[in-house]
Amino acid sequence: MRLKCIKLAGFKSFVDPTTVNFPSNLGAVVGPNGCGKSNIIDAVRWVMGESSAKNLRGENMTDVIFNGSGGRKPVGQASIELVFDNSEGKLVGEYASYAEISIRRKVTREGQNFYYLNGNKCRRRDITDIFLGTGLGPRSYAIIEQGMISRLIEARPEDLRIFIEEAAGISKYKERRRDTENR
Ligand code: ATP
Ligand code: MG
Repeated sequence: MRLKCIKLAGFKSFVDPTTVNFPSNLGAVVGPNGCGKSNIIDAVRWVMGESSAKNLRGENMTDVIFNGSGGRKPVGQASIELVFDNSEGKLVGEYASYAEISIRRKVTREGQNFYYLNGNKCRRRDITDIFLGTGLGPRSYAIIEQGMISRLIEARPEDLRIFIEEAAGISKYKERRRDTENR
């Protein structure tokens, strides 16, 4: 699946609805310090279900909502949508026949989270399930940030194993087994 665009609204510095398009397989986000490049990465991680405020460079989960700047007042909610091209039918399961897959997350000031899959309300779990075993996901190796390579090199074997299992595509099955055992 190829990422077609990211739609941001009320998220961190992106107060007004903004669409970032990725028209080809290779894209780059460039700009001066503080213009919001890392906020875009935070947005991708967040919409895929990230539940740690620290991993989003904040203290509380509602810190992702635009909290005012200059003459602009804070807003009441943040929303991020990712649109993927699934015309090659890479996604298995219920959504395999959809040419486009959209995932969206919304959070309100009260801290209520809502998830949507192709516009339909769903659980966080439905979103994380899509990315399990693909290498993409809130804490996957698909997002390599500053310091991550050295963290990987120095990682304890049990932490390294998580990455290897994800690359081998078996984390999905382990997750399902854990689910069944917990039922
Ligand atoms: P650098 O090149 O230094 O890494 P960057 O382009 O990655 O910069 P970001 O870290 O994405 O920049 O953006 C930082 C900006 O986002 C800051 O100006 C900060 O005030 C703003 N920002 C972060 N969270 C919020 C928020 N909740 N509301 C409003 N603005 C925010
Ligand atoms: Mg940055």
